[in-house]
Amino acid sequence: MSDRIPYGRQWIDDDDVAEVVGALRSPFLTQGPRVVEFESALAARCEVAHAVAVCNGTAALHLACLVAGVGVGDTVLVPPITFVASANAVRYCGAMPRFVDVEPDTGNMDPLLAAAALTDDVRAVVAVDMNGHPADLAAIRTAVRGRDVVLIEDAAHSVGGEYRGRPVGCCEYADMTTMSFHPVKTMTTAEGGAVLTNDDDYAAALRRLREHGIERASSSFTGPLAEGAGAWYHEMHALGYNFRITDMQCALGVSQLRKLDSFLEKRRAVVARYREMLADRTDLILPTEREDVRSAWHLFPVRLVDASRRRAVFDHLRDAGIMVNVHYIPVHLQPYYVELLGMEPGSLPNAEAYYAAEISLPIFPALTVAEQERVVGVLEEALA
Ligand SMILES: *Cc1c(COP(=O)(O)O)cnc(C)c1O
Repeated sequence: MSDRIPYGRQWIDDDDVAEVVGALRSPFLTQGPRVVEFESALAARCEVAHAVAVCNGTAALHLACLVAGVGVGDTVLVPPITFVASANAVRYCGAMPRFVDVEPDTGNMDPLLAAAALTDDVRAVVAVDMNGHPADLAAIRTAVRGRDVVLIEDAAHSVGGEYRGRPVGCCEYADMTTMSFHPVKTMTTAEGGAVLTNDDDYAAALRRLREHGIERASSSFTGPLAEGAGAWYHEMHALGYNFRITDMQCALGVSQLRKLDSFLEKRRAVVARYREMLADRTDLILPTEREDVRSAWHLFPVRLVDASRRRAVFDHLRDAGIMVNVHYIPVHLQPYYVELLGMEPGSLPNAEAYYAAEISLPIFPALTVAEQERVVGVLEEALA
């Protein structure tokens, strides 16, 4: 069905294609100069010292948790309204997530509830910038002050957003920020992700773990065969992974990064039109954008005042080819986590109410006015 409208879609121009082809024809398909170029450009855009690019956003979260020291016996605070990867990264390290309920308006982790959930075994907090709206990192930072807790911002939704006048990823409040460049997010490398940090030691550890735990700097050598060894020599210092990203992907990343501001502008125009078209509706709650924030508008979540009608409204939109979605099924109620933690419906009321009422309307830079009018027309029909 060609007239389907997806909830999100990437934007690829001829110059993106040319960059990727250029990488493909170069001597390096991976481990080459385009990875470094993308990392430098991303770090500059985000006003941060280091960007470590990896194969996807989930690997970025996994590595961030590892270098934060998260391990068996530890607990990590995670919001329940997120993609499962935010919690799974904690499990990869052998630790347990503790789900902290969300603010009713943003769907982001509630800093006061996070403060109340802190115990001595909490090693890290993963704060998710839901829909592109940055989490209240300053308040979460205040909550964890004086504790041995690492603050990780999952910015998979918010690449290009701003918090308190500075770009998402600057790590003014977070110790590390992770990103995803999946095609549905605000810029893409097909698959891809990154960890951003101002901490030199974290950056070195992230680079090592991205590549099998291998160390190449001779100043760091400690092994019994280091003495007198030649240029072939390297050492494995930790059990790392192959979480590398390719030069073709990073070529696309460099090209997409140049257009990030124009993507955001187009997303904001879509948001402004939705706000205008839906302004008079009393049966819908439109997404908030707080004063100290600029959302990157990965998603445009509306919530029905009468959540009991969500299923019917959703089905009506889908039947008309409007490929709406729901973000997210609360992670604490996914069967894997029910088995692990034993939480029941009703245990995180804000998250569950948010989920019950939510529908994500189509939003992406190329969404036309005509398409948006069709979305709103079908939505109004569904609500009638
Ligand atoms: C997309 C996403 C991820 C994972 O990113 P991938 O690149 O798909 O691995 C993590 N967290 C959130 C909130 C996401 O939306």
